[in-house]
Amino acid sequence: MRSNIGKKATRISILVTAGPTREKIDPVRFLSNYSTGTFGYEIAKEALSRGYSATLISGPTSLDAPRGARVVHVESAIQMRQALKREFPKADCLIMAAAVSDWRVRVPARGKIKRRGGRKILELVENPDILYELGRKKDGKVLVGFALETKDLIKNAYNKMREKNLDIVIANKVGSKRAAFGDDKTSILIIDKLGNRTAIFNKSKRELAKIILDKVSNFKI
Ligand code: C5P
Repeated sequence: MRSNIGKKATRISILVTAGPTREKIDPVRFLSNYSTGTFGYEIAKEALSRGYSATLISGPTSLDAPRGARVVHVESAIQMRQALKREFPKADCLIMAAAVSDWRVRVPARGKIKRRGGRKILELVENPDILYELGRKKDGKVLVGFALETKDLIKNAYNKMREKNLDIVIANKVGSKRAAFGDDKTSILIIDKLGNRTAIFNKSKRELAKIILDKVSNFKI
């Protein structure tokens, strides 16, 4: 990795985000998604087994922290952004595997919302696109994003790479069976900004984590 040249004594530092975010509706309810965090946790484990240092910024999951990882627990997208603000400058590479909620409730209720009959409308505002923001201050780091799509996978993945200033995008199609979530084997397409495109079919996230880190460590900007 170019960012590590000249820093021989320092371990390569990988920053990984994982899991969903939760956006509060009231003290007992939230808006979230089906992410389990498996992919990000497997990537952090693989990074550690290669002798890299790994910091995991994790939304709520039921997974055990990988032994040797520094884990920062967050709940909402805004908290994840704050944690990244602190951790990003220290990293050589960011792998943004978290499924960040695109929206949050504009004003979460202070008390539990009561049922009153009829409709209830929640006002949502957009969360910041964290990866987009970090792509503007990349500073020689390798940036990896995920593109989880239900259609136009390749087109959207290329657009994401360009717009967010990424080096690598992991494109993952979500079908009706939601195979992209959880422990199931899944298929991904890895594209990078040098024009390489690698399709990998039906592998566990553990195996995919190795392939992704191979791509990252080969990457020369
Ligand atoms: O644009 P889209 O949400 O599909 O991009 C997915 C990538 O952007 C993922 O790597 C995800 O972690 C990141 N993302 C983000 N902030 C958001 C939404 C997504 O950093 N608000």
